[in-house]
Amino acid sequence: MRFVLRGAVQGVGFRPFVYRLATGLGLGGWVSNSSAGLVTEVEGAPNGVAEFAVRLFEEKPAPAVILTSESVHLAPEGSVEFVIQPSTETDEISAAVLPDLAVCAACLSEMRDPADRRYRYPFINCTLCGPRYTIVTDVPYDRPKTTMRAFPLCPACEKEYRDPADRRFHAQPVACPACGPSLSGPVAEAAAVLAGGGILAMKGIGGYHLFCDARNEEAVAELRRRKRREERPFALMMRNAGDVRHCCRMSDREAALLCSSAAPIVLLDRLPDANLAPSVAPGSPYLGVMLPYSPLHHLLLDAFPHPVVATSGNLSDEPIATAVPEAHDRLGGLAHAFLDHDRPIARPCDDSLERLSRGRPMLLRRARGYAPLPVYVSEDLPKVLAVGAHLKNTIAIALGRQVIVSQHVGDLETPEARQAFERAIEDLLRLYRFEPDLIACDLHPDYYSTRWARAQGLPVVSIQHHEAHVAACAAENGVREPYLGVAWDGTGFGHDGAIWGGEMFFATGGRMERFQWLRPFVLPGGEAAVKEGWRVAASLLHECGLPALDNTPPAILHMIERRIHCPVASSMGRLFDAVAALTGVARRNGFEGQAAMLLEERAQREAPDDDAYPLPNGDWRPLIRALVADPARAALRFHNALANWIVDAAAAASVTQVVLSGGTFQNRYLTERTASLLEARDVRVFTHQRVPPNDGGISLGQAVLCARHWKP
Ligand code: ZN
Ligand code: ZN
Ligand code: FE
Repeated sequence: MRFVLRGAVQGVGFRPFVYRLATGLGLGGWVSNSSAGLVTEVEGAPNGVAEFAVRLFEEKPAPAVILTSESVHLAPEGSVEFVIQPSTETDEISAAVLPDLAVCAACLSEMRDPADRRYRYPFINCTLCGPRYTIVTDVPYDRPKTTMRAFPLCPACEKEYRDPADRRFHAQPVACPACGPSLSGPVAEAAAVLAGGGILAMKGIGGYHLFCDARNEEAVAELRRRKRREERPFALMMRNAGDVRHCCRMSDREAALLCSSAAPIVLLDRLPDANLAPSVAPGSPYLGVMLPYSPLHHLLLDAFPHPVVATSGNLSDEPIATAVPEAHDRLGGLAHAFLDHDRPIARPCDDSLERLSRGRPMLLRRARGYAPLPVYVSEDLPKVLAVGAHLKNTIAIALGRQVIVSQHVGDLETPEARQAFERAIEDLLRLYRFEPDLIACDLHPDYYSTRWARAQGLPVVSIQHHEAHVAACAAENGVREPYLGVAWDGTGFGHDGAIWGGEMFFATGGRMERFQWLRPFVLPGGEAAVKEGWRVAASLLHECGLPALDNTPPAILHMIERRIHCPVASSMGRLFDAVAALTGVARRNGFEGQAAMLLEERAQREAPDDDAYPLPNGDWRPLIRALVADPARAALRFHNALANWIVDAAAAASVTQVVLSGGTFQNRYLTERTASLLEARDVRVFTHQRVPPNDGGISLGQAVLCARHWKP
């Protein structure tokens, strides 16, 4: 049998694993890395081959991620020996760069063993763990081409590095106290800063974090003031899953995600009696929690064994700081103390953020632990650089059928963020030695990414925002036409120049037809209406001929009547805000998506049933009238109305496949409700897993769609 495995299967000890498995079962054959991924052929007794086929997947090395696999039966060749073949050179570049991996159990126990030569060494790692993407400076991935080149191996480390039987064989960041990086000061002092209620800036894997005691309201409130961050929740780091259960409700699957080698921040339901400072996550029903993922984090939390706020080291809206002098410059006014180290960070990489949806992980921010794993698509793409949207920006390049999506870059609002965007492009092109033939960007003419794309002197293809959302989700799931694509979010530039965001497309024949959409409404005050949902509520009530809410200022009503500064939108995000205001759940957004998040949480608490408001073909007027007339369990009936609309549209389009994308589908209740209704009608439902449903997934969709609009 031949097996071809694609994904993170190279540089994670996969070939030695296959070798041991095959020889242990008495099979002949070979294993090799190639441009196609990891390829192995085995032959021998049928039950031996069958067992191999199962254990290959079940017992794979922990950091390996198999994205796709193929297997085929072949005629036997009579080989009895099993060999590791040398790599074929062709196209290993894409496979060469792996994500950063959390420290493994074996390294941790060595670090805690007083007899080990790496006792309490904060840079311990092995083939199965440690930094990768954040230290590589060039390909192929080899020590001189990482930021470890400044640390020549001592004889003891060299021996481990050269020994095929050692678990540090060819582990590029291998190091020890004698030869490797070191800290700027004792961990105990850093822990004392936390215990004293101070703010600690500590250099990590992909940049600096700011830490403080999450139980200390004064410390957390001070961090908010200094970071100029108003209400957006802070992420937390806790010692272990047991500590997390004191603060959050957590299923086994959520625990598995939390403890995975990607070690993301996992969004969990908070417990009402969690002993945490109120300023950690004011007005949020969820907590974002991660475990220590670098050896240094473990040392810190060994010394200060309590939940800590762990937020990226930056001022609000700026990129994360990575280099020592720059960090001291930028974070000097934020932190009371610093703990630095001298292993350079090759590129900034924030913590990834995930939540469980439909029983599986859904990325909300894709960065450390996942970037730069390729996404495999079903057709060959042109050599395109896709520059993403404006918020939650990511960029992407297409290498044949692989799309490399960058780590989360951020909102392109500040000069610093725009610089980071340009650096990320430069970095990705250099690392993969990629020279684009064209650039794909958003249809919005004023996005910074669009303006950058148009200034490069290369052919540019503009992709409509919501078509890109849908294409990204279809591509990562390998969905073939025809299908119904739903793209619901806050905002995106439509083909007619209006703000879209409640879109359904019928995808067929290589085109996307705008099939149904949310009835447009006006946003009194434009941007102000994005922050203040009560303005949108006023607009919808006016349109329905219903009386305004009591506290609506007359000036706003005047604006709506005269259509002064009232852009038109079909935005699902704004409909959520309006309904949150009408139901008294939230009058405004303290941070992006807050009102929708609170409305979702309310829906989940309301008695589960199928009751729904009417929303015929996306006309929200009957919904608003029904809601005002009978507001009982309004959050639930609103969510159910949205799910019903998708079910009706799928029936009207006579499709058997539905693709759900856009930031609105970060909403777990809506996603799961829609999926279960459709699946009960034998419609297959596809949601995001490898890139986020929000604008972090746009670059992938742009890369995929540009092929249709571009002829070389
Ligand atoms: Zn390890
Ligand atoms: Zn050493
Ligand atoms: Fe969007």
